[in-house]
Amino acid sequence: MVLSNLVNQLEESVTLAASARAKTLKAQGRDILMLTLGEPDFKTPENIAAAATAAIASGKTSFYTQAGGLPELKSAVSSYFESFYGYGLAPNEVVVTVGAKFALYAFFASVLNQDDEVIIPTPYWVSYADQVKMVGGRPVFAVGTQETDFKVTVAQLDVLKTDKTRVLLLNSPSNPTGMIYTSAELTEIGNWAVAHDVLILADDIYGRLVYNGNNFTPISTLSDAIKAQTIIINGVSKTYAMTGWRIGFAVGNPEIIGAMSKIASQTTSNPSAVAQYAAIEALTGDQSTVETMRLAFEERLNTILPLINEVPGFEAIKPQGAFYLFPKVAKAMEMKGFSDITAFCDDILEETGVAVVTGAGFGAPENLRLSYATDIETLLAAVKRLKAYMEK
Ligand code: PLP
Repeated sequence: MVLSNLVNQLEESVTLAASARAKTLKAQGRDILMLTLGEPDFKTPENIAAAATAAIASGKTSFYTQAGGLPELKSAVSSYFESFYGYGLAPNEVVVTVGAKFALYAFFASVLNQDDEVIIPTPYWVSYADQVKMVGGRPVFAVGTQETDFKVTVAQLDVLKTDKTRVLLLNSPSNPTGMIYTSAELTEIGNWAVAHDVLILADDIYGRLVYNGNNFTPISTLSDAIKAQTIIINGVSKTYAMTGWRIGFAVGNPEIIGAMSKIASQTTSNPSAVAQYAAIEALTGDQSTVETMRLAFEERLNTILPLINEVPGFEAIKPQGAFYLFPKVAKAMEMKGFSDITAFCDDILEETGVAVVTGAGFGAPENLRLSYATDIETLLAAVKRLKAYMEK
């Protein structure tokens, strides 16, 4: 079959692929511990599920909503921004999408022309680079290493900037590293973007999942000039345990937001109406469940991190947010005779039944990703198996 040049240059999402492989082994009866997906293990809070049930019962299902989202949901996003960003939004500054993932795609499709460049700090969430390629753009990587807490500096951006640079992507707290840029670091980076007329794409999706007294400051709150230059991506998946509902949103410059709505109108149409009603409740209803889940993630992080660092050859820095550990395993690979991280992760799965994700898809070929969005018993059992594997 002749497939498109486009699809031939794309990778399958490594997180989804790793999970699919692990699920197949599980279905075959293998004892698999899944640490692959960025999917909270909690149930969607009851008040949110009840809002969806009420929407179904009252027949709010037999119509398309506005492609860019229900006006009531846009207004809920605005209230949410007032609470957590300190400013509200006009309806034309918000677009609601099928997950934050589609908001990202619609953004790239709206602003990039052929060969336009997007600077992506590494390690980066798996889908960014391929989405840029899908619309003809070029990902350009600013390398963050474990030694610099996986952060990049303005000096690095200066080297990478060309007359094709259109966007700088920031994902703080980061998937996969959990690191958070400080306000001072963000101010410097934001001012750099403003000075060079580079758009900032701020993926804030983990902004409410921050631990141990760390703070998340949204870059858009640092100055009016930075705010004007920034499109924010956010959504309900991670904060409210709503990955299956597929509601994300983007916020910022009305012209770009309008273009993104146009892309949605010709591709997805609106996200599920029922899910939109649920999202209204998520954003404006009782927020105490968010804190309950955040505390649970924090406790898991604090329990599991020291144990991971006791696994021979594993070296993890302490994440400040999100729900992943991203240990460097270069020494462990050497001890086990592997030079390729993906082959190493496959061996771990085969030998221990612990499913993790290769760092290769995140632009970090000496690291692997473990999600702690799973129960503590599974996490403890997984670490025990990894330790036994490395000590063998
Ligand atoms: N951005 C980051 C950094 C993510 O980790 C994810 C999901 O894993 C997304 C965006 C997409 O989230 P969703 O499409 O579920 O809203």
